[in-house]
Amino acid sequence: MTEKVKHVLGLSGGKDSSALALFVKETYPELDVEYFFTDTGYELPETNEFIDQLEEKLGYIHRLNARSLNNIEGRGEKDFAHLLKEHGNYLPSQRDRWCTVQMKLKPFEQWLDSFIKDGYKIKNYVGIRADEPERVGYMTIEKPIESVFPFREHGIVRSDIENILQRNGLELPEYYKWRSRSGCTFCFYQRKIEWVKLMEKHPDLFEEAKAFEKGDDNNTTVGERFYWMGQGQPLETLEDPAVQKRIIENHEKKVARFNKKKRRNALLGDFEGYCEFNELDDIYDEAEGGGACVTCYK
Ligand code: SF4
Repeated sequence: MTEKVKHVLGLSGGKDSSALALFVKETYPELDVEYFFTDTGYELPETNEFIDQLEEKLGYIHRLNARSLNNIEGRGEKDFAHLLKEHGNYLPSQRDRWCTVQMKLKPFEQWLDSFIKDGYKIKNYVGIRADEPERVGYMTIEKPIESVFPFREHGIVRSDIENILQRNGLELPEYYKWRSRSGCTFCFYQRKIEWVKLMEKHPDLFEEAKAFEKGDDNNTTVGERFYWMGQGQPLETLEDPAVQKRIIENHEKKVARFNKKKRRNALLGDFEGYCEFNELDDIYDEAEGGGACVTCYK
């Protein structure tokens, strides 16, 4: 009997997973790939617009809705405010990334369960490039899910990614003009300059993130406050024009230093012409967002 295989490819709204989907479609046209986007309900409007554009190129994209899939009978919508309460008003952080488990991985697993019940093995295509350090992508030992890395197999590196998007008639997502990656509006992997930009571009979403820092004010047992930027750094500190000015000036200095280095290296042909927020990891000297996860950003 032939093995039943379901090919799935997750889109984060980032450039690598988008390029991967286009690359797999043109390289393996015989594969019937199911594309999915796990919409946490806290995505940037720019990300949603880009997913719509991708759908025109790829065909149907399943929207796995974290809110409805996490819904537990009789408890109503389980959005971030509910999840936060369940986690004792402890905001997710790099050390305790419960948000990814609840808002990305659980909906993904629940979606796959229906295929697995039907006897399918799952091949999950992951956009880790050939020039990235060894990373494993989504892994599970309990389910028949195999991760596949076409970029690594084909030696696709960062400078190939934009070419793939361009030859398919796609520009980079709009958020790259002011933020380095997709993911939730309130993601703690943001750098201070990105929070300042969020406040400028989407003041309502900045306010929403600020409100989550307050947790449950009616709960008198909560003695400690948690903040997206780390302890002692509430988002409201960014509303001070003097603080904003300092952050912007520091950022501009880093960009100027980086551009100088880039110009020097460009003579040697080492760099591609990326725009500033597309190069933020390099500017801040961090590999792939300082460990930001494959599930949310690729
Ligand atoms: S994008 Fe950030 S906040 Fe959202 S689930 Fe991923 S790690 Fe958590």
